[in-house]
This record gives sequence, structure tokens and C-alpha cells, in this order.
Amino acid sequence: MMKKIDVCLTFDFDAISVWIGTFHARSPSALSRGEFGNVGAGRLLTMLRDWGIQATWFVPGHTADAFPQTVEQIARAGHEIAHHGYFHERPKTAEDEARDFDRASAALERITGQRAVGYRSPAAGLMPSTLDCLLERDFLYDSSMMGQDFCPYYCRVGDQAPSDGPFVWGRQTHLVELPFTWGLDDFPIFEHVWTRNGVNPGLASPSHVYEIWVGDFDYLYERIGEGVFILTMHPQAIGRGHRLLMLERLVDHIRRRDGITFKTMAEVASEFRRTHPFEPQ
Ligand SMILES: [Zn+2]
Repeated sequence: MMKKIDVCLTFDFDAISVWIGTFHARSPSALSRGEFGNVGAGRLLTMLRDWGIQATWFVPGHTADAFPQTVEQIARAGHEIAHHGYFHERPKTAEDEARDFDRASAALERITGQRAVGYRSPAAGLMPSTLDCLLERDFLYDSSMMGQDFCPYYCRVGDQAPSDGPFVWGRQTHLVELPFTWGLDDFPIFEHVWTRNGVNPGLASPSHVYEIWVGDFDYLYERIGEGVFILTMHPQAIGRGHRLLMLERLVDHIRRRDGITFKTMAEVASEFRRTHPFEPQ
């Protein structure tokens, strides 16, 4: 059987916003970890250029405002810039969410001159209202859910999960889901984080992470033969030397195989819509 595997390298350029939003930090030490994301982004841009690979960068509005030159450089290099909230936080209300959403869209558009068509929820914290927000703004895809691993699918709205009754399935929409998973995300496994709620040890060795990532890729390639392999990385995490060397080893492993194409997320989502036309139920 001919293999047909799309590979998406995605970078969540959270920079300082993840420390302010998700971790509620104000210490200059914590914030400087986000600042290092800008260093990592520069290294990744060079590697992507050398490989000739177009990636997808999910950029919070806060990062676009803090590091406009880097975001402009990413866009100019032909990479896709996608939406990742403004402050990297879970909004309290649907109104807050809509306001921050549009503020982030405006920040990205100001720099890139283009409207983002893809979205990944900060820390995979999608709210039920987020999907409505994406549909109202005619987004092409989301990448925050885990209902599949290697297969895009159409998102539902209106699911209900009562604690005293059976699950109620909502209706399918034309918003494409390009699945996310924590297992193919570098942040929890590499980043050592202390919070009031506990400690995430992180700091895994790159060989340990390589084993997990290459294992998922090999399963897709050898056993399934068709689908999309999506890696979620953060310049502030993957941008350290020993981890970049691991990423190089992984990309070499993938590139040696036949039937592999590196694509942006928007390309994969558009192709899915074309080959699997949405049929309203
Ligand atoms: Zn993020």
C-alpha cells in the first residue's frame, strides 16, 4: 500500500503570555523563561529554512504585541500564523472570551496583514462557547481536542455531559478538528514548573521523548499508512540545545520515508474539507 502521511510541525509561541495567563506568575525569573522563547524561535526559523519546511505557529496576541519583529519574520518566511488567544488563559465568561479573541485577531492581522484561519486553545482548555466563537468568525479549523489521533474530523457543538444522566451528542459542524495530544507536546515533559497546586517535574531526557514521538510516528506509518502526524512544540521548551538535536534526529527519521509531506495545518484542514465534504445532518 502506498503511504500518504502529512506531517505538521507546530509551534505554540506562548513566550511570556503562558507565565502571566496559565501560571499567574509575576516574578522576573518566571517571565524570563518566556522571553527565552524568542531565542528559541530564532533557532527554529533557521532550522526550518534549512529543511525547507513550512510550519504552523500558534501565536497569542500578547506575544504578537511583545515580539512583533519575530512574528513578522515568521510570517515573512512563509509559515502559517494561527490564533492562540490573547493572554494564554481560560476565559471566565463567553463575553470575555469574545473580546480577547478579537483583540488577539487584530494583533496578528496588524503584523501579518492576514486573518488567521486556525485556532489552538491555550493549554487545551476549550470552552463550549469557544467553538461558537470560531464558527461565528468562519474559522477553518481548531486543534485543541483529542477525539482522534491521526485523523482530522468535524467538530460538534452542543454536546451535553450531565453528571446524572447519559452523554448527549451535539450536532456536527463544518469546523475541522486537527487533533492535539499531550503525548506529542513538549511542554509538560520538558518544563519544570512549580505552582501553588503542585510541581510538574519535567526535564525529561531527549531520548525518552524521542522514543514516545517516534513510536507514534512509526505506528502511523507502519500500521495505518495514512493520516496526519501533528507535533506541538514551544520555542521556549524545544529551543534548548539538547532538545533541538533530538528534533533534528526525528525530522531526519521522518524525511527518510517515502510518502511523507510536510504541510501547514491550514493546508491539511483545507484538503480534508475537499476530500471529505461536510454534510449537515
Ligand atoms: Zn500555548
